[in-house]
Amino acid sequence: MIIDGRAVAAQIRAELHARTARFFENRGRNPSLAVVLIGSDPASELYIRNKIKACAEVGIRSLDVRLPADVSREEAIAAVRRLAADDETDGILVQLPLPPHLDPREILAEIPAEKDVDGFSEKNIGALALGQDGLVACTPLGVMELLKRYHIEPRGKHAVVIGRSNIVGKPMAMLLLNADATVTVCHSRTPDLKEECRRADILIAAAGRAKLVTGDMVKEGAVVIDVGMNRENGTLCGDVDFKEAEKKASFITPVPGGVGPMTVAMLLANVCTAAEKRYK
Ligand code: NAP
Repeated sequence: MIIDGRAVAAQIRAELHARTARFFENRGRNPSLAVVLIGSDPASELYIRNKIKACAEVGIRSLDVRLPADVSREEAIAAVRRLAADDETDGILVQLPLPPHLDPREILAEIPAEKDVDGFSEKNIGALALGQDGLVACTPLGVMELLKRYHIEPRGKHAVVIGRSNIVGKPMAMLLLNADATVTVCHSRTPDLKEECRRADILIAAAGRAKLVTGDMVKEGAVVIDVGMNRENGTLCGDVDFKEAEKKASFITPVPGGVGPMTVAMLLANVCTAAEKRYK
């Protein structure tokens, strides 16, 4: 079965619409997200436009904060601090990458954990590692939501995650572990990737390498989730050779239309969660 990320994301957005309406009834204002863009990287501009549009569609107020590429470290920090202190800002997102003279760790550290809707802060990653409540990175959270909505239970399964980045691979592995899967994390130094993948009941590919996962790496009946977003000859493709893998998989996500649409949906969900929690 092909997992339809677009349909699930649309369903989530409809649910979020109801949540923002309820928040408005209780608080007299909509949940709000501040998006900070430093400089004018065209890809970042596009991402931000998409996020702001998606916010508007579900009733999240967005604040578009633009700083020039040559903004000083002090001014950048002050801008994030102002948003951190602003009572009507529920979520803060600083679009990466930053201009080279700014240290992303230093800037991101200014976002309070309860407004960190990207789930990148040390406190939120620590909470995830400890199995505690917190805001979780949107892409791995989106994968868990897809599994949930397709009634795929990680408990007792062997999950293999390819990739160990702080924003996808590691939080993905922790979420699966917290959901009682037995988890193997693979990376570029894993000696026999094929053998590791063949043992996976749930295979998550997040390496950023087109067609890294071939059909012979997929166990019969496995669930295959492709997080990869690669450009090959101008077209978007994942890390999985879809045509080969779909012959073996019980469930599989396509690229595009699988995990991708879930990332923005989960960002919106995190804004609602952050807003609701602040008044609990
Ligand atoms: P990243 O920071 O580059 O990390 C890639 C990871 O994959 C690293 O841990 C790397 O190992 C591992 N890796 C690379 N080549 C490998 C190979 N041949 N065999 C085994 N492991 C290998 O990338 P990322 O930010 O995690 O993103 C991963 C992919 O997901 C990218 O394609 C990205 O575009 C996509 N993505 C999609 C979404 C979405 O919304 N769909 C969101 C975020 C990211 P080492 O640690 O050893 O280097």
